[in-house]
Amino acid sequence: APPAPVPVVTPLPTAPPPARDSQACAVVAALPEPALLLSAAGNIITANQRVALALGPTRVGDPLSFVVRVPEVLDAVRAAAADGVPRRVEFAERIPLDRWLEAHVVPLRLHVSPERAPDAVLLTFRDLTQQRRVEQMRADFVANASHELRTPLASLSGFIETLQGPARNDTPARERFLAIMAAQARRMSRLIDDLLSLSRIELNAHVQPQTKVDLGAIIAHVCDTLSPLARDRGVELEQVRETADLEILGDRDELIRLFENLVENALKYGAAGKKVEVRLARENGTAVVSVRDFGPGISPEHLPRLTERFYRVDVAASRDQGGTGLGLAIVKHIVARHRGRLGVESELGNGAIFSVRMEALPNPEKNL
Ligand code: ADP
Repeated sequence: APPAPVPVVTPLPTAPPPARDSQACAVVAALPEPALLLSAAGNIITANQRVALALGPTRVGDPLSFVVRVPEVLDAVRAAAADGVPRRVEFAERIPLDRWLEAHVVPLRLHVSPERAPDAVLLTFRDLTQQRRVEQMRADFVANASHELRTPLASLSGFIETLQGPARNDTPARERFLAIMAAQARRMSRLIDDLLSLSRIELNAHVQPQTKVDLGAIIAHVCDTLSPLARDRGVELEQVRETADLEILGDRDELIRLFENLVENALKYGAAGKKVEVRLARENGTAVVSVRDFGPGISPEHLPRLTERFYRVDVAASRDQGGTGLGLAIVKHIVARHRGRLGVESELGNGAIFSVRMEALPNPEKNL
């Protein structure tokens, strides 16, 4: 049989690519942000690799509108190429992710020519999402903190007015109001204490503590301090020590604060279970302290948010217990400063286990 004819491939005619200037391309490739160099007509001369990650694939010669579909950016590129004036455009995208971006549009004259008009446009993008989130968090935090302080303050002012006016000569009412006022003042001072601790711990976040501390002694101290609260709530507070010596590098005061917060929460929110267990163990090279209660537990949708500032499962229940909503945020920061990990396991109706894992110092007995 005659050999099959070999197909002849003729390249399709393509439009000549826009003038590529290798120096300009190298500079664009080296820019730390997504950057595209465009011809004055708005076609892609070159794009760096970050463009592919941030916006999608690009092809030399394609119009910009193939990769960027934001009308404000396209208009800014057109306008800059026409009048030679740089522009900055901020825009938000919803899909595929919520993000805020900023585009800088800078007209250039790459080639010396008698014409004054720009022959290229440099387009760079900056992702503002992280910055926006931080700004939002800061604003939310100030709003939350003021709100938390304003409530007891409003109650105090209300009682002061009542005592100056209608209840001026009513002795029993005065005694009752003063007791409430004292409780509100305590609440405000607890909140301020918690806010100050939080900012102090955050300030030191990058300095890992270097003092040798005995975790067993800290847990014993915390359980002693909280035994009156346990008695008050009718809860048995039990310490389970699976290991004799457990030392870590830590900050004693912060660790006391950390375990006080966890045990106090278990006593407050898990009182119905009548028992709280504080367990101390060594798992390979890790010190594990877990605080377990047998109370109502926490439903799964709340678990990821528990350590957010001012997040509470039940705001009224937390306030009744004198909670500020900052306890677990403080816990999270202390654990982070100790380069440890915080874990929460809980099921509705089956109590909760909060566990802290930190690197243990080698056991001295093993070295004998
Ligand atoms: P609070 O000052 O309100 O106690 P925390 O940050 O310590 O603030 O705790 C946040 C919320 O987590 C509490 O309001 C409570 O709803 C929930 N929580 C914490 N520990 C427990 C627990 N052991 N059992 C059930 N809910 C808990």
